[in-house]
Amino acid sequence: MLEIKNLHVKLEEEDKQILKGVDLAVEAGSVHAIMGPNGSGKSTLSYVLSGRDGYEVTEGEATLEGEDILDMEPEERAAAGLFLAFQYPVEIPGVGNMTFLRTAVNAQRKARGEDEMSSTEFLKVIREKAKALNIDADMLKRPVNVGFSGGEKKRNEILQMAMLEPKMCILDETDSGLDVDAMKLVADGVNALRDAGRSFLVITHYQRLLDHIKPDVVHIMADGRIIKTGGPELALEVETQGYAHLLGEDA
Ligand code: ADP
Ligand code: MG
Ligand code: MG
Repeated sequence: MLEIKNLHVKLEEEDKQILKGVDLAVEAGSVHAIMGPNGSGKSTLSYVLSGRDGYEVTEGEATLEGEDILDMEPEERAAAGLFLAFQYPVEIPGVGNMTFLRTAVNAQRKARGEDEMSSTEFLKVIREKAKALNIDADMLKRPVNVGFSGGEKKRNEILQMAMLEPKMCILDETDSGLDVDAMKLVADGVNALRDAGRSFLVITHYQRLLDHIKPDVVHIMADGRIIKTGGPELALEVETQGYAHLLGEDA
């Protein structure tokens, strides 16, 4: 589904190399987790994949179902099936949540050459999906994320994901700042979307989210590279022993 080879990324404004040769292959239908200390480049990887400004790819490639995504505009990547749930969801004053979602869903359909969703169908689908995530009608009418609590913002990210039905979902620390109940709700939302044709890359600083979203593969990222790959037991190793022993004596 997603294949990253030898990806090197630097900041556009500064001569600072952040990703130093990332290799990663996420198979269709699988859930991969990336863990790693703060500052190792996890968010940078998700930003670069989603097409955010400010980063320059100096070497390497990234493909989604065999298609080069690094040359695409952010909206083309979304139409191709890529979705990023942000660590810090943005507030959009003046734009109703429902309007935002309807515009996003229909823009994606248009880009794929599909018909728009009718308002009746859209309402039916969004009500159903919002209900499953404990999102009430009031939250759907308010401006996107404005005044939402941390937990509400994260649930709203999962609602966006559920509405857009992406193929490759990247969740960047969607668990940070959540209490256990909200985290479980996010995990349930993700688990409900697990499907043979959909893959997840779950970036998390802590192991606890992975108790609820059981990953197939766990990667450890440090200093701009994947330094270790293993099964779910690797996350438990991090939990009990910390990163230091994985990083070696220098850490
Ligand atoms: P993580 O998500 O693993 O905590 P980040 O990708 O956020 O790591 O950051 C990796 C490194 O790159 C850090 O040292 C961070 O300070 C730096 N960095 C990332 N983006 C910028 C930026 N726009 N300006 C300056 N430094 C940045
Ligand atoms: Mg961080
Ligand atoms: Mg981060």
